Amino acid sequence: MTPVVYKNRLTALRALLQEQDLDGLLVSCPENRRYLSGFSALDSHLHETSGFLLISPDAAFLLTDFRYREWAQAEAPLFEVQIYTKGMAKLLSELVGQMGARRLGFEGPFLMYATYQKIVQEAEAAGLQVEWRPLENFVELLRAVKDPEEISLIRKSLAITERVLAQVGATLRPGLTEREVAWRLEQALREAGAERPSFPPMVAAGPNAARPHHHPGERRLQTGEPIIIDMGAVYQGYCSDMTRTFYLGEPDARFKEVYTIVRRAQLAAETGIKAGMGTDEADGLARELIAAAGYGEAFGHSLGHGVGLAVHEHPSLSPVKERAVVLQAGMITTVEPGIYLPEWGGVRLEDMVLIHAEGARLLNQDRTFYQFD
Ligand code: ZN
Ligand code: ZN
Repeated sequence: MTPVVYKNRLTALRALLQEQDLDGLLVSCPENRRYLSGFSALDSHLHETSGFLLISPDAAFLLTDFRYREWAQAEAPLFEVQIYTKGMAKLLSELVGQMGARRLGFEGPFLMYATYQKIVQEAEAAGLQVEWRPLENFVELLRAVKDPEEISLIRKSLAITERVLAQVGATLRPGLTEREVAWRLEQALREAGAERPSFPPMVAAGPNAARPHHHPGERRLQTGEPIIIDMGAVYQGYCSDMTRTFYLGEPDARFKEVYTIVRRAQLAAETGIKAGMGTDEADGLARELIAAAGYGEAFGHSLGHGVGLAVHEHPSLSPVKERAVVLQAGMITTVEPGIYLPEWGGVRLEDMVLIHAEGARLLNQDRTFYQFD
């Protein structure tokens, strides 16, 4: 990303702060930290953070520990890197004191309770009068609408995924275990230029394909069963996410029926989705078709989700009306209807689309779907 991108993002964030009457924001979500600063370190664990951002109308700090100093300075030139030696909470309260901030936002879903307690205690001990306001989907709102550089990175990430899925998909044979196929995918992803998979590849064969988030195990692929493969790459920080359902041998009537319904539902959503539409409405494009075919109960997850620095991000194409948001041009989401039948298996097909005013552009190049009459 060019430095001007980060400058623009900070400007947009500061406008949001002003709108919400906040004197600053503490950022602890790793993807938000990278999005705003450029600092690309991951958090190795839920409570192994590689740093925080503190952003006010006229200051931008990156708080981290000694191990990340050089890295942070190199990648986040718009931020003043501050190293905590006596704990992050102490340093934070010093900086907040200097800023004279009264109302600070923090990311509720991304701050551990114990860390929050320490922050509040340190601020009180320092005699600061600060109101800590938990926020949800704040920086995420900015992240949801992609800029041209991000779109091109996501396209590259998806191209790697498509190439690998086609390559490994062609090697599926009876007798291979789910785990062996998952390893082939992971290996091929890295060889094709991915920095890592965007999540551990999912390979679910036979009845396991009835579990939307199955973990690959020792089950062997067989003829006469659906096999769901869901996978993605990370390329320069940006994720892709794609699912195809395979079948070894001559498809039976049930597979043909279920597959055809899922594919029709996917096409209905891909051709109908557009900016200005509610996320629940978008979900309905596919859900109504699946329900009308009698499989409504078997499609128990949302139609899709945003993809960017995180593989699952805002917005969610969920059927829940109360949580709906309006789709905007520049958002990238998945379209992934599925039908899952316990003891038999399932079918899921997942593409990625770029939303625009009149519709959506399909980002996938692969169109090798089964077609049954
Ligand atoms: Zn997926
Ligand atoms: Zn997905």
